[in-house]
Amino acid sequence: MVITGGCICKAVRYEVTSEPVGTRVCWCRDCQYWASGSATVNVIFKKEAVKITGALTDYASPADSGSHMHRHFCPTCGTPVFSSAEERPNLIIARAGTLDNPEVANPTSTIWTASAPSWACISETLPRFDAQPPPIKT
Ligand SMILES: [Zn+2]
Ligand SMILES: [Zn+2]
Repeated sequence: MVITGGCICKAVRYEVTSEPVGTRVCWCRDCQYWASGSATVNVIFKKEAVKITGALTDYASPADSGSHMHRHFCPTCGTPVFSSAEERPNLIIARAGTLDNPEVANPTSTIWTASAPSWACISETLPRFDAQPPPIKT
């Protein structure tokens, strides 16, 4: 199975040759900037399985979790396509909105709920974490 996606202007495209290792909905304060006020939906892949074409701009910043995050976005259309953490170089995280088939994303938890605004719509059924959960096992 090949999972495909890219940015809205199609300058950046990617192909993934393995299943996601996890999907999380993140309400950390940084994600609210990237997701226009909502949470991001993050599909975590093994980096070795992801092939990217097109240039991405890399914005580096420290996260509330203490991780050194890199946000990778299309310089033409601004779509946030990936993020990655220096602490977990074997993983790359695709923003679910960039998947050609967003059904591939199947969130298994909501994280950083303590940072969510009072009006946030947070799943009643998924496990919740106030802040950063333990790392996903790969
Ligand atoms: Zn683009
Ligand atoms: Zn976040």
